[in-house]
Amino acid sequence: MNAIQIRTTGGPEVLQLADLPIPIPGPGQVLIRVEAIGVNFIEIYFRKGLYKATLPLTPGSEAAGTVEELGPGVAGFAAGDAVASVGILGSYAEYALVPASQLVKVPASVTPEQAAAAMLQGMTAHYLATSTFPLKAGDTALVHAGAGGVGLLLTQIASRIGARVITTVSTKEKAELALEAGASDAILYTEKDFETETKRLTGGKGVDVVYDSVGKTTFEGSLNCLRPRGLLALFGASSGPVPPFDLIQLSGKGSLFITRPTLWHYVATRAELEWRSGDVLGWAAKGELKLRTEFMYPLAEAAQAHTDLEARKTTGKILLEP
Ligand code: NDP
Repeated sequence: MNAIQIRTTGGPEVLQLADLPIPIPGPGQVLIRVEAIGVNFIEIYFRKGLYKATLPLTPGSEAAGTVEELGPGVAGFAAGDAVASVGILGSYAEYALVPASQLVKVPASVTPEQAAAAMLQGMTAHYLATSTFPLKAGDTALVHAGAGGVGLLLTQIASRIGARVITTVSTKEKAELALEAGASDAILYTEKDFETETKRLTGGKGVDVVYDSVGKTTFEGSLNCLRPRGLLALFGASSGPVPPFDLIQLSGKGSLFITRPTLWHYVATRAELEWRSGDVLGWAAKGELKLRTEFMYPLAEAAQAHTDLEARKTTGKILLEP
C-alpha cells in the first residue's frame, strides 16, 4: 500500500511516499481502508522532532474510511461500516490500524471528507467550549487564529451557545470567514495590537476566556485581555512554544487561571468520546456545523500540505486523499 514515511526528522521534504505492507489487525484492533486523512498541526511537531516518536514513522492519527477487517475480540463493528477516529496508528496511508476503543461510526449523510474534517478539530472545539471553560449565553471569548481548523469550528460552537466571539486572524479574507462562522469581530492581529482592540471591543472589561492556539506570539497579550478571574486555555503553539513563565504574574493580572489542555484527556473514556464525536458528527449531518474542506491534497503531496499549513496559507481543514 501507499503510505507516507518519515525516516528522519526535519522539514516537509522528510515526508516520503513509501510502499509498505498492509497491516494485520491484532487483538482489539480494526483495519480500515482510509478514504480521507485529517492533517493536524501536531504532525508538524512530530515531523520536526519537537515531539518524540520512534522512527521510521507513518504520521497521522485522524482519518475516516471503511472497516476492512476485524482483529480478534472486536465486537460492535462489521466489515463495510463507515467509521472515523482520532486514535489511528499512522493515518497517512491507504490502510491503517486503529484500536476499536478509539473508533466511532459515521452517520450515513456525512461524507468521509466531512468526517475526517470534523473529528479532531471538532472534538477539540467541543471540549474547549463545553468543558475547559463551559461557555454560556452572554459570555465573551477571544479565539485566536479564528479562520483556522479549530478556530472556525470553535467560533461556530461558541456562537450557537450564545457567547460573543472575538477572533484574531492574519488577513482580510480570513476575517470574512471568521465573521461568517459567527464571530462578532475579527481583529487583524498582524496589523493591529489585539490586546488594545479587545479591550476597546469589551468596553475595557476584558473577556471571560481566551482560547489560544498560537502560543509564543500571543500568550502575554492573551493574559492581558482577560477580565479578573478569567481563564486562558492555551491549547497550541502554532507560532512556537511559550517560554517559562512566573506564576506570580497571574495574581497581578487579576487572579487569572491558565490551563494547557489536550484532547486525549477529554476523550479518555468511551462515553466522552461518543458524546463529543456524536455531537460534532450529528451537527455536521444536519448542516449545523459547517466544515471547510477546500484544502485537499493527494497523499503523495503530504509535504505540500505541511508547507501550506506552516506558511499560514490554509483555512479550515486540510485533508489528504489516499
Ligand atoms: P490552524 O488551521 O489553526 O493553523 C494554524 C494557524 O495559526 C494559522 O493558519 C495561522 O492563522 C495561525 N498562526 C499564527 N502564527 C503562526 C505562525 N507563526 N505559524 C503558523 N501559524 C500561525 O491549525 P489547527 O486548527 O490544526 O490547530 C491549531 C492549533 O491548535 C495548533 O497549534 C494545534 O497544535 C493545536 N491543537 C491542539 C489540540 C489540543 O487538544 N490541545 C487539538 C487540536 C489542535 P492566521 O494566519 O490567521 O494567524
